[in-house]
Amino acid sequence: MNELVFDLEAEKKEILKRYRALLKACKPTLQKGDKSMVRHAFDISLEAHKDMRRKSGEPYIYHPIAVAQIAAEEIGLGTTSVVCALLHDVVEDTSITLEDIENEFGKKVAKIIDGLTKISGVLDYNSSLQAENFRKMLLTLADDVRVILIKLADRLHNMRTMDYMPREKQLKIASETIYLYAPLAHRLGLYSMKSELEDLSMKYTEPETYKFIARKLNEKKAERELYIQSFIGPIEDILREQGFKASVYGRPKSIHSIWNKIKKKGIPFEEVYDLFAIRIILDSKLENEKADCWKAYSIVTDLYRPNPDRLRDWVSSPKANGYESLHTTVMGPKGQWVEVQIRTQRMNEIAKKGFAAHWKYKESSSDSGLDQWIQKVRDLLKSPDSNALDFLDDFKMNLFSDEIFIFTPKGELMQLPANATALDFAFEIHSDLGARCIGAKVNHKLVPLSHKLQNGDQVEIITSTKQTPKEDWLNFVVTAKARSKIKSNLKEEKRRIAENGKELLERKLKSLKITYNTENISKICNYLKFPSTLDLFFAIATGEIDLKNLKDFQASEKSSENKVPERNENSHIEGIFNKVKSKDNDTLLIGEDLQKIDYKLSSCCNPIPGDDVFGFLTINDGIKIHRTNCPNSTKLMANYGYRVIKAKWTSQKELAFLTGLRIKGIDDLGLINKLTTVISNDFKVNMRSITVDSSDGIFEGSIMIYVNDKQHLEDLIKKITQIKGITSVVRFDSDKKTQQGA
Ligand code: MN
Repeated sequence: MNELVFDLEAEKKEILKRYRALLKACKPTLQKGDKSMVRHAFDISLEAHKDMRRKSGEPYIYHPIAVAQIAAEEIGLGTTSVVCALLHDVVEDTSITLEDIENEFGKKVAKIIDGLTKISGVLDYNSSLQAENFRKMLLTLADDVRVILIKLADRLHNMRTMDYMPREKQLKIASETIYLYAPLAHRLGLYSMKSELEDLSMKYTEPETYKFIARKLNEKKAERELYIQSFIGPIEDILREQGFKASVYGRPKSIHSIWNKIKKKGIPFEEVYDLFAIRIILDSKLENEKADCWKAYSIVTDLYRPNPDRLRDWVSSPKANGYESLHTTVMGPKGQWVEVQIRTQRMNEIAKKGFAAHWKYKESSSDSGLDQWIQKVRDLLKSPDSNALDFLDDFKMNLFSDEIFIFTPKGELMQLPANATALDFAFEIHSDLGARCIGAKVNHKLVPLSHKLQNGDQVEIITSTKQTPKEDWLNFVVTAKARSKIKSNLKEEKRRIAENGKELLERKLKSLKITYNTENISKICNYLKFPSTLDLFFAIATGEIDLKNLKDFQASEKSSENKVPERNENSHIEGIFNKVKSKDNDTLLIGEDLQKIDYKLSSCCNPIPGDDVFGFLTINDGIKIHRTNCPNSTKLMANYGYRVIKAKWTSQKELAFLTGLRIKGIDDLGLINKLTTVISNDFKVNMRSITVDSSDGIFEGSIMIYVNDKQHLEDLIKKITQIKGITSVVRFDSDKKTQQGA
């Protein structure tokens, strides 16, 4: 980088240009004295970063300016946040201290910067990102939401400018983004940001599919625009006639959401009908909003017939993240379903900027769903002994899910995630109510605890003082609150019982003349293969193990005194790493025997040569090779980045790899025959299994075959697609549904 020559004068001009654009974006919220504060922050940041450059070679200051611009323009944050965004990397990366910041800008700014710096481990490209870091980040969220909003702006800009990063860092950052940042953006109501983060992640984790869908969308663009025009023309006319001021337009759906639909429904791109949605944005007075939205709905459905199952009214009951809108799906020209979203300008701004816009409109926002949610996060974080990864899993479940509305017996409205059960509802009201719940009455009818609630249900909880939380409750509750309460209750109970086991063991050891101390207890624990002493004591108390076994332990202790200690898990991992690191480019070459490194192809995604892959070091099973788009890969990379190993295929034609194809078609005599002929005779591919299901003339089959590489597979797919009667051929990940653990 140092050898490059930079045009410093031109750069200076560009920096000032960008700074002025930032000021312009801040204008709507600027108050007296704000401008000089932003300028001051800019000057400090410029000076502090003056010798730093980004990976692309650009001056580093471009980054804080861009983050501040996103905060102001795309999230709608005010001056304090803009100042913090400009300074967000200063304490972390330069000699400026938090005290300096506090002296210059006061306590509030210093506190936010402190929050941003504390969680910077999350963004540090060199360290591994782990659940504990996520948890730290959520703690700051509970403190001051602006910290997380600025962090999201920071992440968005990094995702937008990731081209110069090495491939494995791109993958890791993209995985973190899809794993946590996009769901957070969603939960905070930042819909545009969420879509962009998802699309950018996909661009790096699944470049080919991303490009494929982008190209397809582009090919049909002109046709789609014509259709949209013919659809919205009549709506605009009538809206105008009835005196509405409105803008009506078609909006393409994100590539990521189209890809999700293709995967979920197992259909080809051509069959995804909702590639776009129509938006009607009304210019409406606050007091007329609801009536106006329904008038517009009436106009649309007079023109086009609505699908009764697809009406969503988030105007009467907004989503927990603040989203308000009226959605319907109607039958448009040429027999095509079209989604129509109706909202006012105020609602539209909330949908774009989420939290910040919400604050702007609500003087006191304590009654908003978002604040209730943040309160819930706070409560959750208080639970003392939840393991960080468990916590994250529980927490994540609640980030994306849709909500249902439930009434209490007194008619109060509560929001719960979709699929919530009667027991979730009980815990939602109060943890004691949940712990003692034995059943519920839903719309006056008696139901079990596990009963799944529907939107609009009225629920009364039935309790008993004899009831205590049970292990199997964890199988059906869905809210993070219920899960963590049940877990901590169970643990408490277990500890209480384990106390008895501990006493029993003490007495037994005395009689065997073994000293009762930590060392011996942990030896016994290992010998009997219990993960913790708590589990050991518990098993003794419940009679699961017989203390007579301890005689064998005593004997084995004597005979194994000379045994070599078991190898340490960490040194084992390091060993394999060093072995790989000593090779060319730190890369594991798959298919090369010379490396003498053991690896297995993972069965959750069945990678074949040509697939984009990485190695993952498991604790007990050596290195496993996964596809970068494996369903498990984001979780592995986001949480255990330090165990990821670069991997690449070497050319090898003689080996065969197992993969699966799902084939659909119209059943026709001899179709299977034609299919197997193409596979076995024309392509000389070995089949491991074939299952076919055909009913009412529709044919569906799954075939497991051995291929050489991706090209080989693609040629085969092409050939099968050409068989008359076949309508779709899709590669699938695994022949079993179970997901593989790390
Ligand atoms: Mn940054």
